[in-house]
Amino acid sequence: MRVWSRLEWQQQSRLLDERDRLRRLHAELRTAATSRRDYEPHDVTDDEAAIQADAIEGRLAATDEALNRIDSGSYGMCLVCGSRIAEERLEALPATALCRSCAS
Ligand SMILES: [Zn+2]
Repeated sequence: MRVWSRLEWQQQSRLLDERDRLRRLHAELRTAATSRRDYEPHDVTDDEAAIQADAIEGRLAATDEALNRIDSGSYGMCLVCGSRIAEERLEALPATALCRSCAS
């Protein structure tokens, strides 16, 4: 069995917290988008809630992928160039899959 680094443990707990937070937020936005639609004419607010919910789905997917990379031992490696992503960058963006130069 592979021994996880301190960074992996730390990032896994942050990513799990983030995933819980995003799931709650996503459920609230979806409820807001659909409940208003039931009794009010279509308005901009519905779309905003739906757009935000879509954006959160993207972040949830990125969070799940990062958790999978921790499990598989590839967390912290850039998906494009394969080099190690700087620890400061991972601390700022735990779900990132790209190093600074590939992301820019
Ligand atoms: Zn890269």
